[in-house]
Amino acid sequence: MDNNQAVVPPAQGEQDQEFIIGKYKVKVLRSVCIGAASCVAVSPSTFKLDGENKAVVLPDSQDSADNILMAAQSCPTKAIVVIDTETNQQVWPA
Ligand code: SF4
Repeated sequence: MDNNQAVVPPAQGEQDQEFIIGKYKVKVLRSVCIGAASCVAVSPSTFKLDGENKAVVLPDSQDSADNILMAAQSCPTKAIVVIDTETNQQVWPA
């Protein structure tokens, strides 16, 4: 068995992962993600495509809150949800 592949395993089941990064809570809606990877291009330390070509959020993100918001706004299917944890308001999709 070759475990030497740098592929992020798919998230379990239909559960959408949610991570708090800086002031934002960030979630990818897997059923909406089409693997366009613009989020990965904008915020490479926050998003990565998994083995099913769906974006996953990396918990040890180094990207700024503004950068993550830009990544969410770049998603053609609005699969990335951003919530401001200070106000509990959804910032994106607006
Ligand atoms: S930009 Fe949107 S559709 Fe493309 S991989 Fe990221 S979350 Fe998925």
